[in-house]
Amino acid sequence: MDQKLDGIYQEVLHRNPGEVEFHQAVLEVFETLGPVMAKYPHFADIKIIQRICEPERQIIFRVPWQDDTGEIHINRAFRVEFNSALGPYKGGLRFHPSVYLGIIKFLGFEQVFKNALTGMPIGGGKGGSDFDPKGKSDSEIMRFCQSLMTELYRHLGEHTDVPAGDIGVGGREIGYMFGQYKRITNRYESGILTGKGLEWGGSLVRTEATGYGAVFFTQEMLKARGDSLEDKKVVVSGSGNVAIYAIEKAHELGAIVIACSDSSGIIVHEKGIDLDTVKRIKEVERRRISAYLEFHKDARYVEGGNIWDIPCDVALPCATQNELNGKDARTLVKNGCIAVAEGANMPTTPEGIQVFQDAKLAYGPGKAANAGGVATSALEMQQNASRDSWSFDYTQVRLQDIMINIHKNCFETAEEFGSPGNYVVGANINGFIRVARAMEAMGLI
Ligand code: GLU
Repeated sequence: MDQKLDGIYQEVLHRNPGEVEFHQAVLEVFETLGPVMAKYPHFADIKIIQRICEPERQIIFRVPWQDDTGEIHINRAFRVEFNSALGPYKGGLRFHPSVYLGIIKFLGFEQVFKNALTGMPIGGGKGGSDFDPKGKSDSEIMRFCQSLMTELYRHLGEHTDVPAGDIGVGGREIGYMFGQYKRITNRYESGILTGKGLEWGGSLVRTEATGYGAVFFTQEMLKARGDSLEDKKVVVSGSGNVAIYAIEKAHELGAIVIACSDSSGIIVHEKGIDLDTVKRIKEVERRRISAYLEFHKDARYVEGGNIWDIPCDVALPCATQNELNGKDARTLVKNGCIAVAEGANMPTTPEGIQVFQDAKLAYGPGKAANAGGVATSALEMQQNASRDSWSFDYTQVRLQDIMINIHKNCFETAEEFGSPGNYVVGANINGFIRVARAMEAMGLI
């Protein structure tokens, strides 16, 4: 790493002790910024990098709630408003027991560059809570969301901060939070959250957007190599919102998805994962993926299995951070995998990324490959601002154009900065320069 950058990295470690995921996300960006520092030395003079690494505002608050038996629980929630150089803070809320400040900061940091890459007017932020939605009743989820919004509402605004979903937060949770916001403020402000229901201000394609976008990005990477998704064997980790719609679009584009998973195990179905079954189990019944076997006797369930052991042409990690390590990456390469696109945020460990890059396979980092979700959130904001709603086809074409553009920008930026084919370099540098230029123009704030 560039010496100046290394000094700044040491400072980041020192200022943010114990936040290992945040350190990992920062390091991954820093390792690619050397050529930018050489080309634009004045960014160092105005301390752009140090400023980008320090969130503009960090909010941490208590969320008390009562379960169905009347017992009181206390959770902790966060909203890290990372950077607003390009627009209001934008990024999801994650409900998962693993959430602590370091996770939210890694996600917020990545969101800044991801959102910049979309070319839309959105800054970066992220939030969430260590609340575990697993096994909770609808009324418990509602009470938790209401309690969280009772504090969060004062920080939101269509021009200030606009959360959405992430792991553990979908349409149901967004509904409860929007309702509470409306009740407290006595204002129907569609623009304060995205991922809303279609009947009350949501956008068509938002639900599908992250998964669809990741597959559009994969298609572009393969096209750039004179290939396509037609007849490719695909493995998708996870079975949540991102995974489900990645499977749907991969099938639509002629690929065959043979495996998906949840945190307990993996389903392998050689003749192709039946998406209606996954949707029913996950979206309606909210059960474990092992239930898939009740509907398909010819599928296989491997409790605790490693999905990356399954030979495939294309791998789409769509579950969570650091789910694919160096050993997994070597297995994928050995089995002939030609493309990896990240539907999740930071699913591949640094060692895994190195393996993919050494093998020169098409590797699309999350910042670029999963930007379709937040880009479609920005489309939802556009529709809300003009009190309009667009058709599915029109919105999907907009999403696909955005993904094509992100791919093109990453591809060209990687070439310009001397790393052809390296989408990590392309995404980090392209996103960084957009944010840095805006910060420079706005002076020292
Ligand atoms: N949580 C998603 C992400 O990681 C979407 C955020 C949004 O739509 O604001 O980008």
